[in-house]
Amino acid sequence: MTTATAPPAGDRPVALVTGGSRGIGRAVVARLAAAGHDVAFCYRSDEAAGREAAADAVAAGARVHRGALDVGDPAAAREFVKETERALGPVQTLVSAAGITRDRPLALMADDEWRAVLTTNLDGTYAICRAVITGMMRRKSGSVVTLSSVAGVHGNAGQTNYSASKAGIIGFTRALAKECGPYGVRANVVAPGFVDTDMTAALPDETRARLKERIPLARFGAPADVAHLVAFLASDHAAYITGQVLGVDGGLVV
Ligand code: NAP
Repeated sequence: MTTATAPPAGDRPVALVTGGSRGIGRAVVARLAAAGHDVAFCYRSDEAAGREAAADAVAAGARVHRGALDVGDPAAAREFVKETERALGPVQTLVSAAGITRDRPLALMADDEWRAVLTTNLDGTYAICRAVITGMMRRKSGSVVTLSSVAGVHGNAGQTNYSASKAGIIGFTRALAKECGPYGVRANVVAPGFVDTDMTAALPDETRARLKERIPLARFGAPADVAHLVAFLASDHAAYITGQVLGVDGGLVV
């Protein structure tokens, strides 16, 4: 685990982002740092990407704590939250963005493809939320943002595992909003459509062109398009918003 300190410890709120080294999570780290947060983030193994994301956040004035861990391991998630709070202070905003795909039609799916996706996406969301929630409830303050997907709302052929994990995240987050609202803690879901990241980079050009025809705004989203909404949900401007599923999909599901 690494802590990089730019400015001296101050009263910047602390945000923790899982999957913060690449793609949407990385854009969220950058956006929250620019919005005045100190930021902790984790990733599974890509240290080079972790270093780059940290450098951007430090350049934006944030103190940064980062580490490689598997969010599907509740003990590792707990330890990371403890380290973060020791290094930066209490977590005010949690963004659960770590996610993977193992796409295959159900008729051909291997048990480990099912399990890997559910473990990272759904168990990982449980584990990191479980690790921060008691502190947030005790402090009577906090915002949790989980990353689902249009696949979690509507289902996507070839993605039964991913769609199930992302639908599970919606149920989980709505229940959490009801549990924690009375303690002043909000929980919301962001459901992106197709966003240009490593996750969608392998799509063949033909598929991308076909998908764009179905998107009213006629393009894939940029990670920053999602990060702006996450930062809004983390902010006091969203003080009366909880239990919601907000799409960022260029109108894909209209
Ligand atoms: P991405 O570019 O593939 O980045 C995934 C990030 O998650 C990386 O930082 C990765 O770390 C980390 N990660 C993966 N497994 C992990 C684990 N077990 N423990 C800790 N970290 C782990 O993904 P993305 O496209 O930005 O997606 C971010 C989130 O948005 C995901 O939840 C995804 O399902 C959701 N989403 C994406 C899209 C899209 O079109 N891109 C659409 C809808 C929803 P390493 O690099 O070290 O592996």
